[in-house]
Amino acid sequence: MIIKPKVRGFICTTAHPIGCARNVQEQIDYVKQQPAIDGPKKVLIIGSSTGYGLASRIAAAYGSQAATLGVCFERPASGSRTATAGWYNTAAFERAARADGLYAASIVGDAFSDEIKQQTIEKIRKDLGQVDLVVYSLAAPRRTHPTSGETFNSVLKPIGSTYTNKTVDIHTGEVTEITLEPASDEEIRATIAVMGGEDWAMWIDALLEAGVLAEGAKTVAYSYIGPEITYPVYREGTIGRAKDDLESTSHQLHEKLQSRIGGEAYVSVNKALVTQSSAAIPVVPLYISLLFKVMKDKGLHENTIEQMHRLFRDRLYKGGEVPVDEQRLIRVDDLEMRQDVQEEVAKLWQQVTSENLQEISDIAGYRTDFFKLFGFEVDGVDYDAEVDPNVELEA
Ligand code: NAD
Repeated sequence: MIIKPKVRGFICTTAHPIGCARNVQEQIDYVKQQPAIDGPKKVLIIGSSTGYGLASRIAAAYGSQAATLGVCFERPASGSRTATAGWYNTAAFERAARADGLYAASIVGDAFSDEIKQQTIEKIRKDLGQVDLVVYSLAAPRRTHPTSGETFNSVLKPIGSTYTNKTVDIHTGEVTEITLEPASDEEIRATIAVMGGEDWAMWIDALLEAGVLAEGAKTVAYSYIGPEITYPVYREGTIGRAKDDLESTSHQLHEKLQSRIGGEAYVSVNKALVTQSSAAIPVVPLYISLLFKVMKDKGLHENTIEQMHRLFRDRLYKGGEVPVDEQRLIRVDDLEMRQDVQEEVAKLWQQVTSENLQEISDIAGYRTDFFKLFGFEVDGVDYDAEVDPNVELEA
């Protein structure tokens, strides 16, 4: 079939297998060009198919020749529907890794469930024995709790009071004001249940109990802080509460891993980037468009793979103690948060309108990155050519 993008709101309901494969290859090529890292050897990545999880997988596999086991929630093609981008990414990564002599396998299913945790443990036992790094990179809209059976839906809302600020429709380029009503206590609780640390802790407990974490194993999960402009909808909103919970979980896990296996747990604060999850947050895409403009002008811009490669090379596997801030957070958002960068973004934020958006922001780069997430607008791909949407994932 001929596959074109079909955008609905902040997602694209189609994906292109060849474009997705090229994106994966581009990330692999980037890591191959960097000096080797004395990094992990057997890695479990939870949320391995897109965004930061996929980039972590590639950084581990090609940075230190690691065997990687991925867990993700993706869908194959069926009938006239294409597979999801994460499905195509996973197939492309596994094909490349195996061709390069690296172990790569994936488990597709709900990472929040006990069943998928058990399947993962069995797969580690059978194929790898133990893992020495667990990356937790889930971004999900809902979670069914494995013991209570309750289903929680996360929301992206401010807390305490109504919040009004600028936002952009990335497809029309219209800058408007958006007003977000504050979350209820129930919505705050639900967002923490989905995006907080409980499931990460459940994974680590299950892996520890099963004896599949190697001596000295590390685990890392991802967070975001960002600028004051987005505080009400991000850091001080519902998702921020979940991130607070994730960060405090990292301290508990660190203590537990230290005493049990001499292991370590961290949260890494990453840069704002275009992913399927960040596209869904109001206000944030406009901030990202301005941020990209400033960071590209200053030669500081990084994509997911550059961020994750730097996380492995200069933080997690630098040798010696992992560099952290006073809250014990790893910071690879250091370039985004540089004072000169933030001052310029804040100035542009005051000025930006529908009329000057093209000129003062990198909305064009944002849009391209958005379509690239689904395998579109990738250089060298013929989008008028017939392509088979059915791509198998090997067991
Ligand atoms: P993403 O949407 O690209 O990736 C989410 C991953 O989670 C995918 O692999 C998906 O398959 C998987 N997933 C979702 N629900 C699942 C389920 N029930 N079971 C199994 N797998 C499931 O998101 P991302 O932006 O890469 O986010 C990953 C982490 O990075 C999140 O914690 C996010 O908050 C954090 N982060 C993102 C940004 C950003 O700007 N995008 C910045 C800093 C931190």
